[in-house]
Amino acid sequence: MEERTTTLLAEQADTLALRVDALAAGRPTALAETLMAASDGDLLDFHRNAVQVLRLAEAAVVSAAGEVARRSESGLPDSLARRYGEKSAAALLAQRSGQHEADAAAHARLGLALAQREGVTGDVLPPFFPRVTEALAAGLLSTRSARAMVQALEKIERSATTDDLGRAEKLLVDGAISHWSATTLLDVCRALPDRFDPDGAEPREAAVRARRGLLKRVLDDGTIQYLLNCDPEGSAYLDAALDARTAPRRRVRFEEDDESDGAIAPDATRWDDRSWPQKRLDALIDIARDSIRHDDGQIAGVDTTAVIHVPLEALTEGRGAAWFEGVETPVSARTAQRVMQCADIVAVLLDGDGQPIGLGPTRRFFSRAQRRAMAARDGGCVWPGCTAPPRWCDGAHVEPWRSSFRTDIGNGVLLCHFHHRRLDEDGWTLEIRDGVPWFTPPSHIDASRTPRRGGRSSAPRARPPGG
Ligand SMILES: [Zn+2]
Repeated sequence: MEERTTTLLAEQADTLALRVDALAAGRPTALAETLMAASDGDLLDFHRNAVQVLRLAEAAVVSAAGEVARRSESGLPDSLARRYGEKSAAALLAQRSGQHEADAAAHARLGLALAQREGVTGDVLPPFFPRVTEALAAGLLSTRSARAMVQALEKIERSATTDDLGRAEKLLVDGAISHWSATTLLDVCRALPDRFDPDGAEPREAAVRARRGLLKRVLDDGTIQYLLNCDPEGSAYLDAALDARTAPRRRVRFEEDDESDGAIAPDATRWDDRSWPQKRLDALIDIARDSIRHDDGQIAGVDTTAVIHVPLEALTEGRGAAWFEGVETPVSARTAQRVMQCADIVAVLLDGDGQPIGLGPTRRFFSRAQRRAMAARDGGCVWPGCTAPPRWCDGAHVEPWRSSFRTDIGNGVLLCHFHHRRLDEDGWTLEIRDGVPWFTPPSHIDASRTPRRGGRSSAPRARPPGG
């Protein structure tokens, strides 16, 4: 008996290997070359066939892992995993195959859920979800789809009748095989429990809402980590606000840029090399700054503005560190110098002993009236290619305040927070020629240091009609 199953398993493995070989036309090393030469249609057909083989192979892995898991169940007197000195079936599988333990665990769980069962009298019973088992073994489902189905079906097991359960399983498998995309299948699986348990949605929603919260902690490297658990309604508001802030910068402006003087590169938007998570966080911070700026100074009787404590030497000599009130991680003197130019922050200057000696020199800030005047003149961020509107912008000094002591609008332009930081920190220089801002990149960005024209006057909407 044992010899026979060994032969059978070896034959099955051979069959799979043959299919992989057939895919590679027997010359696996030449595969990449063959694919490069293949027509689009052949390439896509090949990919589909390879996915099919992958599914068959993974289905075989799931079956084997499920059987290992069954033999390793903790109730058994001689658990397989225990005998091999491993704490679980997943650990044993990972140790023996080199798989990640998490992958092995997922395979084992799915395999166990889809396996045939042994009855009390030792007879073999059909699997709980025979249609899923069959479709997976036939290579018609990915393990990911099968897992989603099993999870959904297990959730309705308690509230649904056996007939309903069978019907739900058939609905899922038929839909997945015939016409649903993988995403649609996941959506249907998610919605399935509510169809069989109409009272389930409300308590679940209440539980999600009860878990909501915003946690803040400081990591060893000084990163301030916020962990945000949100209910669906709150998430909708957050996403809408963040999308509104991030969408304009996503727009590609190739067709608008036909500058004959070549001062604006057609890939202006690509200068923004922030990652998507970085953009979303910057947007959230902008929203917070906006709310401070548009507040009358009091929310619930509390002063609402950000406060920075700046030692005098940080301001005058650019040395040492400064602190935002309530934030444990200090910031550099350079950051302190930059944020002190923003109108929405209060700077407390400290003497050598850390005693407050007064508020920051307010003439460093552009006043609200000055920013309004610059908004009318500049129309928003003047960085080449940036579309940020005035309310997302700071007044930025053209010639730094610490060398010019000038805070008049002739020495100011509007820059969004992101570009204000790039100007100050990446080594760009800014000058105004005939009322037009020109930005000169540092040599590590452009070796020729060719100035780039900024401002909105070059934007199409500012041109005369037909121009
Ligand atoms: Zn900008």
